[in-house]
Amino acid sequence: MTERGFWFDTEPELQARSVSAPIEQEIDVDVAIIGAGYSGLWTAYYLKQYRPQLSVAILEANTVGQGASGRNGGWLMGSFSGDVNYLNKLDGEPRQLAKAIIQDTIHEVSRVCQAQGIDCDLHHGGNLRVAARYPEQHQTIKHELSYWREQGFTEADIRWLDKAELDNQVKMAKGQAALFTPHCARIHPAKLVCGLADTVKRLGVKIYENSAVVGIRHNSAGSTQLRTAKGRITSRIYIPALEGYQREFGELARYSLPVQSLLIATEPLTYAQWQSIGLDNRPTFSDASRIVTYGQRTPDNRLIFGARGGYQFGGKIRTEFGFNATEFNVKHPSQSQADFRFRHRLLLALFPQLEGVNITHGWGGTLAIARDFAPHAVFDPHSGLGFIGGYGGEGVGAANLFARTLVDLILERKTLLSTMPWAFKTDVKKVLKPWESEPFRYLGYHSMNRVFAWEDRLYSRGESSTWQRKLAKGLADRLEGMMS
Ligand SMILES: Cc1cc2nc3c(=O)[nH]c(=O)nc-3n(C[C@H](O)[C@H](O)[C@H](O)COP(=O)(O)OP(=O)(O)OC[C@H]3O[C@@H](n4cnc5c(N)ncnc54)[C@H](O)[C@@H]3O)c2cc1C
Repeated sequence: MTERGFWFDTEPELQARSVSAPIEQEIDVDVAIIGAGYSGLWTAYYLKQYRPQLSVAILEANTVGQGASGRNGGWLMGSFSGDVNYLNKLDGEPRQLAKAIIQDTIHEVSRVCQAQGIDCDLHHGGNLRVAARYPEQHQTIKHELSYWREQGFTEADIRWLDKAELDNQVKMAKGQAALFTPHCARIHPAKLVCGLADTVKRLGVKIYENSAVVGIRHNSAGSTQLRTAKGRITSRIYIPALEGYQREFGELARYSLPVQSLLIATEPLTYAQWQSIGLDNRPTFSDASRIVTYGQRTPDNRLIFGARGGYQFGGKIRTEFGFNATEFNVKHPSQSQADFRFRHRLLLALFPQLEGVNITHGWGGTLAIARDFAPHAVFDPHSGLGFIGGYGGEGVGAANLFARTLVDLILERKTLLSTMPWAFKTDVKKVLKPWESEPFRYLGYHSMNRVFAWEDRLYSRGESSTWQRKLAKGLADRLEGMMS
């Protein structure tokens, strides 16, 4: 992968970062981690916090933050995909405690950043889910609010904003109302991942960049050897913190679905343009649609906006997204430019005042979806394999929470975290569900995506007939139901 994406391209200090040398020898460590994204780095961080004497090494195929951690939308959430399913395994006080632990994730990340001097432009401005492009979105967020109330989420967790309150936060041309939650902060993803890498290096963790793991061997003595082109690491405990790249690592390939997500960024906007938009308190935002959109006002005053993308047959990872500012506007664009243009159309539907504003960047990355649509933290003391991931595109905060959980399991710390319903101490394959084989995986994902896009198109075009909308909604509801 060569493109590094917007967050690195617009931050000269990050571009100039020195790259650690690849591994070129054979070494033994206590814990070997594969992947220098949030999951790998947070795991290394907590291991060294609680057991400074442990030797920990990270092998990274490219450079720090080359995966989703350096490319995401920067929503640091105090929630994660599938969290309610876990909460529903608990009652009463334990349920409240688990909910508080999840929501505290933002504060935990913030505490560590402050303590370690990581400046990642964290701003705790909450999140808006807006009924913004078509009337049906009003009904959608109403249903969602009832759902949250049924699940015990109070006004302090999520509340209704009427049109006037919404306009105070953000002015969207067809904005009708919104749900607001305080449990979200905005960050600069690449500054967080690089700051974490510097921190763990200071704590004594060895990071080897340009060191892709190409082979693995389990020794009879109970240790595991990871092989790269020029080196080897042997350890008792090994953790593939690979998220969307698990496919590249045979053992766990079947347990995650690698899916792309793509974003665009405007040029920095002027004061007058921001006055016409709002977002003064930097809430992150989406519109209430099944195509999963997300946006934020960046630290350098651009708008970035993204939407979930496709899945490639066999779980092949898309490494090039190839934004081209000139081709972006031509009549018959390439697939990549068409992907970006689609996001641009959605952005203009929210903010027609941005017509004519330059789109300077487009990029994408790969996330992973677990078969039961929730992440897991699993440690198998027998094989030494530790697993975290399957965040379903909501891993910025979750990677911290799941890394902390995994470390408590590994170190046998008697903590609340290690008793949470997402913590498992057993064989990974007993916990994770495999995805269907091809072509069913491909067909399933594409059918779902198409139905969601079709429904969105029908709603956006006011003239579609009632029966068409009903049919699309019925189908989309069914497919969505299968995901929870
Ligand atoms: C475009 C996009 C937008 C997103 N927006 C948000 C958001 O706003 N909020 C949110 O909560 N989540 C978001 N996500 C999801 C979030 O970014 C991820 O869940 C999170 O970054 C996962 O971190 P990770 O460390 O597990 O994986 P990654 O960051 O993907 O790290 C895995 C690392 O493993 C390395 N690797 C791969 N193969 C090998 C190998 N063989 N050997 C060694 N190393 C290897 C990769 O190079 C990579 O650096 C988004 C994801 C994408 C793609």
